[in-house]
Amino acid sequence: MKTYIVGNWKMNLTIGDGSIYLNKLIRRIKPAKNLEVVIAPSLVSLQPLSLQLGRNHSKIRLAAQNFYSKDFGAYTGEVSIAQLRGLVDYAIVGHSERRYVFGEQNRDIRAKVAAAIRNGITPIICIGETENERTYGETADVLRDQLFGALADIDAEDVKKCIIAYEPVWAISSTHSAKLAAPDEVAASVRLIREQLKATYGAKVEQEVPLLYGGSVNPDNAGAYLTISGINGLLIGGSSLISDHFTDIIELAKKVMA
Ligand code: PEP
Repeated sequence: MKTYIVGNWKMNLTIGDGSIYLNKLIRRIKPAKNLEVVIAPSLVSLQPLSLQLGRNHSKIRLAAQNFYSKDFGAYTGEVSIAQLRGLVDYAIVGHSERRYVFGEQNRDIRAKVAAAIRNGITPIICIGETENERTYGETADVLRDQLFGALADIDAEDVKKCIIAYEPVWAISSTHSAKLAAPDEVAASVRLIREQLKATYGAKVEQEVPLLYGGSVNPDNAGAYLTISGINGLLIGGSSLISDHFTDIIELAKKVMA
């Protein structure tokens, strides 16, 4: 199984700033077998950064942060994943900011997962409980609901083309009063997600589905999350905006994998 280090820039960095950042990243990181480095810039930056990557595409992959679930049609203002083919290899789906700021429901997320698979793009499906849900002991139910809400139309063959990212909403740095998740607590959720996948798709398939952790990851705590059993990488928001921090985490991942 590969290790994935994914940087979600959210609505940050201009096209110019993104280009300067990418230059640094291309210079600093050395490709490593079984390590996939992915960045998710704003939609407007995808094309220029893709051109800039040129032959470095296998060193750094691009992801979309969002897209609409239809391929083409009268949907003013939207961009489809079919239009992003050739620019991105991955697409983030169901991020908590899409769920709670923009009101995306499981049915929207399910349609996007299907659209990504249909277009040969790997969806990175984010799931995670809010602080209230955690307090009321609802974590397992929320994870099951979000996981199967997203995967309801996906069979065992196609689930292997998906990546799941566990992101407890209360641990995301942009969340008011974000806290660091203790690795033991993350490990318990990872076990839950893996058990739920196993019960639905069988043990062999479950082992082929990468599971990432995200929530205030930085160079100091990345090692603790990367070594949790059942975790195959990290989805990083704030720290991915600082190229030195992002490259430090990439180097750490190489050491953990070695
Ligand atoms: C995210 O929003 O996906 C995320 C993990 O952000 P941060 O690393 O800033 O908590």
